[in-house]
Amino acid sequence: MDLFQLSLFFSISALTLSTTCRSTPQPSCYDDVQKGLSSHLNSSIADEINRLANIPETITWLKKTRREIHQYPELAYEEIKTSKLIRHELDHMGVSYKWPVAHTGVVATIGSGSPPFVALRADMDALPIQEMVEWDYKSKVDGKMHACGHDAHVSMLLGAAKILQELRNTMQGTAVLIFQPAEERGEGAQKMIEEGVLENVEAIFSLHTGYRWPTGTVASRPGELLAGCGAFQAIISGKGGHAALPHDSIDPILAAAATVISLQNIVSRETDPLDSQQVVSVCKIHGGSAFNIIPESVTIAGTFRAFTKKSFNALKHRIQEVITGQAAVHRCTAELDFLEEYHPTIPPTFNDERVYEHAVRVSSHIVGKENILTAPSGMGSEDFAFYLDHVPGSLLFVGTRNEKAGSHYPAHSPYYSIDENVLPIGAAIHASFAHSYIQNLISNN
Ligand SMILES: [Zn+2]
Ligand SMILES: [Zn+2]
Repeated sequence: MDLFQLSLFFSISALTLSTTCRSTPQPSCYDDVQKGLSSHLNSSIADEINRLANIPETITWLKKTRREIHQYPELAYEEIKTSKLIRHELDHMGVSYKWPVAHTGVVATIGSGSPPFVALRADMDALPIQEMVEWDYKSKVDGKMHACGHDAHVSMLLGAAKILQELRNTMQGTAVLIFQPAEERGEGAQKMIEEGVLENVEAIFSLHTGYRWPTGTVASRPGELLAGCGAFQAIISGKGGHAALPHDSIDPILAAAATVISLQNIVSRETDPLDSQQVVSVCKIHGGSAFNIIPESVTIAGTFRAFTKKSFNALKHRIQEVITGQAAVHRCTAELDFLEEYHPTIPPTFNDERVYEHAVRVSSHIVGKENILTAPSGMGSEDFAFYLDHVPGSLLFVGTRNEKAGSHYPAHSPYYSIDENVLPIGAAIHASFAHSYIQNLISNN
């Protein structure tokens, strides 16, 4: 959808608050708003949120913020500049926050300061990729790049902070804005949770840029959205010796070869071919030093993914059984490690149906009902799933594809870029979600 038309549409139907009321909201302003809007409070507030997101100065600021972060990408737990920028902007808005949380994370709160609490989340880290996009705001750090849109995620959530802060006196609860580190390592969310960011939170929401869908659309699905992801490594040990005397050795190469084949059989032979939604890939095999020496041990490593928690856990269990079983059958031993320390096992991303429905309602008010799309389930993973293990929530993709803007490359590509017109849309969806979810919780109690 053309953004100019979008903002025009919403500014025509927007709730008109006086400038004084907007910039320094007082309880009396809220009373006036309530009196005039008793029957349409939610949609009028949503219109106002949209209007605030599309103020030209706000759009300029959203782009400037994103470009600043884009030029100085920082990897997991190194988000020093990004974190500082976030705090600087929050200070400027007069929003209070907690820092440091999980090393570089920032957690801001806006609203009444009392329950209900509803959380919004953005991730801050970049990737070890050399940017190949030639543009004025290209990464200034060699070998590092925001190739997953996390620069846009931060900018959109700061945009939501600005909007919610304007409307804070209309909030009967509190929005918790989570800026987390280390999503790409799959660790940040878990660390933030350990430090208590979900305390008393009733629902959580997040947006991810989506290169598959055009700007002005939103895509997601209830239930299983993204796969759970785990890694494994096994050292299969036997007894080394001369290739001419295999009977004096215990051959770990034979055991490893049988193990690799048996691992492939789990998905192909044990799951419904029409509905498997699982994958096991052995991606590394290493052993031996010469053509005529049976080695002492062989290392194999790989990854596994599945959609439901049940199938994910079952798959993990079968991998364990197959590796130890095949090693034993071939008179070897297997030392198995799921590598949690380096590649945390990420659970499947499961969108709570009720929260998803709410997110879709809110988004359709912003992008139009016809621009809400159903996303297919994907084999990628998101550490947002850790939050969803604790509280109901939903992840939505916000479309950024625009051939003219060159934003049609997949995430993690050195050519990845976004259409910056997504920024006010994302800011408005975030703010609208928190505001209206809080309002609904209040009305339902
Ligand atoms: Zn990524
Ligand atoms: Zn990402």
